Amino acid sequence: MPHQAPPLRLALVAASLAAIALGVAFHTVWLLLIPAAAWIPDALLQHRHRRHAADATEAAHHAALAHRKADQLRIARRDTLTFLPNRRAFLEALSTQFAAGKPFAAITIDLDGFDTINANLGEAAGDEILCHLADRLRACSGRDPAARLDGDSFALILTDPADLRHPQDAARRILAALAGTTTAAGQLIDVPASLGLAIAPQHGTTPEAILRAARLPTQQSKQAGGSRVTICGADLADIILARQTSRRDMQRAIEAGQFVPYYQPIVRLPEGSIAKFEVLARWLHPTHGILLPDQFIPMADDMGLAGQISLALLRRMAAETDIWPSWCRFAINISAGQVRELISLLKTQPGDWQRRMDLSRLDVEIAECALMRDRAMARDLIDILHEHGARAVLDDFGSGTSNFFHLQDLPFDSLKIGKSFIQSLTGSPRIQACVASMLALGAGLDIDIVADGVETQQAADLLTRMGCELAQGFLYAHPMPAEDAARLLGLQVVTAEAA
Ligand code: C2E
Ligand code: CA
Repeated sequence: MPHQAPPLRLALVAASLAAIALGVAFHTVWLLLIPAAAWIPDALLQHRHRRHAADATEAAHHAALAHRKADQLRIARRDTLTFLPNRRAFLEALSTQFAAGKPFAAITIDLDGFDTINANLGEAAGDEILCHLADRLRACSGRDPAARLDGDSFALILTDPADLRHPQDAARRILAALAGTTTAAGQLIDVPASLGLAIAPQHGTTPEAILRAARLPTQQSKQAGGSRVTICGADLADIILARQTSRRDMQRAIEAGQFVPYYQPIVRLPEGSIAKFEVLARWLHPTHGILLPDQFIPMADDMGLAGQISLALLRRMAAETDIWPSWCRFAINISAGQVRELISLLKTQPGDWQRRMDLSRLDVEIAECALMRDRAMARDLIDILHEHGARAVLDDFGSGTSNFFHLQDLPFDSLKIGKSFIQSLTGSPRIQACVASMLALGAGLDIDIVADGVETQQAADLLTRMGCELAQGFLYAHPMPAEDAARLLGLQVVTAEAA
């Protein structure tokens, strides 16, 4: 290589050293300089060679690391068997949907009888089936994200507004697309699926909540025999409500006076004049509207708060006591878990509400399950009610298994014939025979019998002919707030605040 002129050599050495000092594109500069650097001392050349080699290795190393990291992230979001996005990726996709702020539906899919296939044909055959199903899901989901959640459980998001207008049809279309025989382990196999669907934001406002809301109906589909679609409906929405409500929320709702008594008249037959009212709890929920007892009493029971709800109702009734005529009685309901609480409430010093309320105007309707749980305690409750002049009613009589047994030594003052008997009364001579025997039992024990769930005039007429004197049901009135109930009695009402 020819020797360079000294000024040029000097300039090259200076440029080279500056690039080294700055650490900027060292190898680029060095590559430019190499042809002209024959004169540069050997030590400096060797140093530069080593740096260049080290830099190249480091760059390659970084590139490999970044590549591996990207691979790992991809793998962390992919199911390794079907290569569908996995649960984590699906939750992220749900998050993205929520962030977009538009309604969407989440569908979860479980294969019916997959465990049996795995057990009979082996896991390899099971894997084959899962891969076939994943292919079908990919084909029918189009641009909407589909995923394998775990085991034989898959999921899908629906975003198309047309699908959301008719979600049941969309889910059925998917079910049909997934159906059909597949080949695994050399055999033709039919693997039906169960689908559940939930709509955001109605049924859940977080990725986890909407996924749970879709999985519940999937289980229902499965339990109902499989190969079907279930949409998150009123009952399931209740379950979700239960899961979203903490003890603290319910406690706050009680303190805020959101639990109020509704009144349903119990009338005398045949004229229909009001004899008393059954008091039924309602939760005036700030976002879910007026909730019925079946939607919150079981949950309150589990949380140990049903007693506090009853107390809140009794306080409210005590505050309203002045508006009712003195002959008017009220029947409250208690669940099995509340018997002990009511006993201790009645045994302690009377509170302000108890002094205001005349307990001798109170009926307590006790469900049969409360007796089954602890007969001795039920007996205690009836005794203490009698000490206060209150009355005990056996609720939903006839619907359980051992009512006669309870009647032999528990001194109930009244029996309520369960709705299931009354609603089928007119069409069934056998039920008429059962109701006639319950009425005879009431006469024999000299206690009141109330027919619950009277919805038609025919049923009321038949009950009258059979000698029934008291009835309750939608034929006469639905449960209503205190003001409406008082208006039924022709009373002028000023709404009272809870004491
Ligand atoms: P239940 O004791 O059998 O109460 C009567 C229920 O039947 C009420 O439902 C009422 O609205 C309904 N009903 C009345 N007439 C008819 C009719 O003609 N047809 C039909 N299909 N239904 C009729 P609600 O208010 O939803 O109460 C359900 C249950 O919740 C009650 O059943 C009672 O066991 C329980 N419950 C209500 N309030 C309370 C409470 O404060 N504490 C406790 N522990 N349980 C309560
Ligand atoms: Ca009742």
